[in-house]
Amino acid sequence: MFAAGGKIIDVHVHFDGEPGFLDGLLAKLDSVDGLAFLLTTPRAFPEALAFIEKHPSRLAGFGAIRLDDPNVLEQVDSFHQAGFRGLGEMTSPLHNYDDERYWPVYERAERYQMILLFHTGIVNRETPHVPEDISFDRMRATRLDLIARRFPKLVVIGAHLGNPSYAEAAEIARWNPNLYFDLSGSSLIKKSNDYTFFKSIFWWSGIVSAHTPESGASAFEKLVFGSDIFRGDLAEFDRERDRYQKMLDACDVPKEAQARIFSGTMQQILRGLP
Ligand SMILES: [Zn+2]
Repeated sequence: MFAAGGKIIDVHVHFDGEPGFLDGLLAKLDSVDGLAFLLTTPRAFPEALAFIEKHPSRLAGFGAIRLDDPNVLEQVDSFHQAGFRGLGEMTSPLHNYDDERYWPVYERAERYQMILLFHTGIVNRETPHVPEDISFDRMRATRLDLIARRFPKLVVIGAHLGNPSYAEAAEIARWNPNLYFDLSGSSLIKKSNDYTFFKSIFWWSGIVSAHTPESGASAFEKLVFGSDIFRGDLAEFDRERDRYQKMLDACDVPKEAQARIFSGTMQQILRGLP
């Protein structure tokens, strides 16, 4: 049976074959009883696969596909056949995420019960002198609304809570039971002196109204934990965990809800997978 993770599940750890990274990550996860979704590039795939197979209680594989790759469906197939649990982080598409051209990918992921992780919001520009075909607008969090509705069995995670369109991201998550967000990236740094701001974004805890889906959950439970470790910067795990903790405490999010944000929600989803 697939291990569903311990005290903390990090949905957002990049791996591109950085030397020594997997051993370091494993030691970190052992120390915190954690599980990480390892977002694996095709070139890092053989190394990641061998390591994940040895440590299935600590790592779940995610295939970092490019939506515009002509061979994307075959890649989805091979990641699935390798036992990978999801796809992502998807980023920088040539069309909007919800464009019908990409629906075959989502259909296949839904059939395989693979979780999808999308980058949402503003994106870095690493090589400013090189022309590129990338736009924030194609990756708005709101592009996930149609995907979540059209593929109701998919579990969709938007990374970065649509930075800076937090309100839009939270509102679509409020109505889509299969949509979650992580808050990795610059947002918790930007808002570090104003964490109670997020109370205005996740406002509907305990609200009973015809205009809000019935739920006893804290509105903050639309969040899951993601660190967005990349280029092997393992220290980001603790830094991001600390920021999440400070924000959730500042917003008076109950401990039980915090436990679901840090692991419980994802545990439940993973237990439902084949
Ligand atoms: Zn991202």
